[in-house]
Amino acid sequence: MDAKKYTEMQDMFTMYLAEKKLRKTEERSVILECICSFPGHFDMCMLHQKLEGMNFHVSRATLYNTLDVLVDSGLIIRHQLMSQSMQYELRILAETHSHLICTKCGAIRELKDATLKKDVDNLKISRFSPEYHALYIYGVCSKCKYRLQRKK
Ligand SMILES: [Zn+2]
Ligand SMILES: [Zn+2]
Repeated sequence: MDAKKYTEMQDMFTMYLAEKKLRKTEERSVILECICSFPGHFDMCMLHQKLEGMNFHVSRATLYNTLDVLVDSGLIIRHQLMSQSMQYELRILAETHSHLICTKCGAIRELKDATLKKDVDNLKISRFSPEYHALYIYGVCSKCKYRLQRKK
């Protein structure tokens, strides 16, 4: 992520915290900084490990709480999937691709399709103001398809 985008994200977070009368703690901004360094999806465990690697120690409770706050602020989205762990992603990243979800194993793959994104952006919807979107396509991944075929 470039520096300008990153500053924008931190500014939006500061504004959101002020609006909600929440404290802007060092922990909260470091967690967002760390999240900005992920190129795609991440879960709690990955985030925790990365923060430890930065020599920044936070409790799981603080992490959970901060992720909730960030989801509520709209800066990150939580993918509600059946896979093993809850996955998160920066909203600005999530809008650049669709998500292919395997209904057998829960694997997620990203699909970049510029036309699809443009179509969604250009949708004219009456009595509704879209803010962002996340696209999911459900199906069976090639690994599972292979495994299922071999069972037969
Ligand atoms: Zn994604
Ligand atoms: Zn699968």
